[in-house]
Amino acid sequence: MVIAKPHIQVRNLTVFYGKHCALKDVTLDIPDKKITVIIGPSGCGKTTLLKSFNRLIDLIDDVTVRGEVLVDGEDVFDPKADIIEIRRKMGLLFQRPYPLPMSIYDNVAYGPKIHGERDRDKLDSIVEDHLRQAGIWEEVKDRLDTPAWKLSIGQQQRLCLARGLAVEPEIILADEPTSALDPISAKKIEERLLTLKKELTVVVVTHNLRRARRLGDYGAFIYLGKLVEYGPMKQLLENPKDKRTQAYFKGEL
Ligand code: ADP
Ligand code: MG
Repeated sequence: MVIAKPHIQVRNLTVFYGKHCALKDVTLDIPDKKITVIIGPSGCGKTTLLKSFNRLIDLIDDVTVRGEVLVDGEDVFDPKADIIEIRRKMGLLFQRPYPLPMSIYDNVAYGPKIHGERDRDKLDSIVEDHLRQAGIWEEVKDRLDTPAWKLSIGQQQRLCLARGLAVEPEIILADEPTSALDPISAKKIEERLLTLKKELTVVVVTHNLRRARRLGDYGAFIYLGKLVEYGPMKQLLENPKDKRTQAYFKGEL
């Protein structure tokens, strides 16, 4: 499928953990300022694909990567690539929130401080703006000094979104970001992602087909490390071409 404005271009990506091949020759273009949903059964390589985009995969022992991942046209696996800058471009959300062991305020101010922001007024407004963007400001504005772990899991996930947004990323990578949340918190995260795509490129892994339908502009179905089918989400769900995609949607895989 030809994407007019790809933000991330995956080219013949193959990943081995030891001898186990987790991704096989995956090629796909991820469009700018849209939501691309990655679907597929557990163990098929969805997390591996996301971890390749920001090279978190480097942290795993005995990994072999072949192929390219171009972000804004630059290969992240190029030895000369600026890995810190690549990671700054990408905000991450995982299945479970990982707030830092500090206050709500400091969680959001952490990234901007590392990048050199010291002005207290500026930090105050950065914290407020991003807590608002993440849809949690009203719930926490009177207790910004409270330790982050005191929040509910759903609130922690939105705090982690605010923390990721505070370093002004261009891309959000979200790996099953709502699967551990109650339905109301899940809906709030979904609403935020739908708003954020006006400014950012979003890639979401989900198991949930209803969620995929609500969120996705494009959908990619991955099975046993291979990209089986990729296209506009509606077309993928309503008119899947590959037998494996059809079987997955029927609950047979
Ligand atoms: P998914 O996110 O679709 O569930 P993953 O990308 O996590 O799939 O995993 C793909 C395959 O790679 C699975 O078979 C999994 O067991 C294997 N795998 C994932 N992480 C590691 C690792 N750190 N070491 C060895 N094998 C791994
Ligand atoms: Mg996974």
